[in-house]
Amino acid sequence: MEDKNKEIIDYFYFLNKHNRINASYFFCGNNLELVLDIVKLVNCAESEYFCDNCDNCIKISRRIHPDILIVDSDKSNIKIETVREVQKFLHFKNFQSRFKALIINNAHLFTEAASNAFLKTLEESPSNSMIILVSRRPDLMLPTILSRCKKIYIPYHEENKGFSFTDILEFIKKKEINMRDRKSLSVFVANLISVMRDYISFRIYTSTENLINKGSYEIITTLDYSLSEGQRILDDLLRIYAAIDNVNVNLACNLLKLTFQV
Ligand SMILES: [Zn+2]
Repeated sequence: MEDKNKEIIDYFYFLNKHNRINASYFFCGNNLELVLDIVKLVNCAESEYFCDNCDNCIKISRRIHPDILIVDSDKSNIKIETVREVQKFLHFKNFQSRFKALIINNAHLFTEAASNAFLKTLEESPSNSMIILVSRRPDLMLPTILSRCKKIYIPYHEENKGFSFTDILEFIKKKEINMRDRKSLSVFVANLISVMRDYISFRIYTSTENLINKGSYEIITTLDYSLSEGQRILDDLLRIYAAIDNVNVNLACNLLKLTFQV
């Protein structure tokens, strides 16, 4: 188990222990391995977490488990035919697992028709199954789909190298950035996304209990964006992050500065 995602794993351990696993989840981020770990956790025959040794764990890791279906589209759209296939899969009886799992990676790639058909799937998902949607572009997804899923934000800890929270706060206050290489910029934007997610959670719950980055407390308590401004900034950041491989680094830096101007 990777340490950086331990909080999410622990959260699912708690839910599982108390029989509070939801029928559908949306994971905002890009980490299929973490999602598979969670599916192992709810199905492991040997451990309250997961052992990586039992038949369920091994088959899930190898992605050959009969009760786990992964739709992993890279660039092409997810079509209505695929939705029909997954509906069939969900209606089979569980073969050897407690929770059958349907995992849809890059869930923003649903066509409009497929999205609408999939809504019905979400409403009628059978018991003892989990539907897990994964994407880092929720801005491209149907809000009615998102609203039916419990949301889990995957933190960008693995990329949190080289930027202290002081660097981030400094940028937000002064809106000055001078970055030449794409990799550092990508890490920096990922850090900003992480902070803004915490800011929004803080504005909604007016508590720091749900923060993903405990260290972001010092930043978010000094920001004074309204909730809608915060959400707009987060949407812009997600868009910049998704496009970062295809835009000029200077242009991306300028977009970043504009994003924080209100
Ligand atoms: Zn196991």
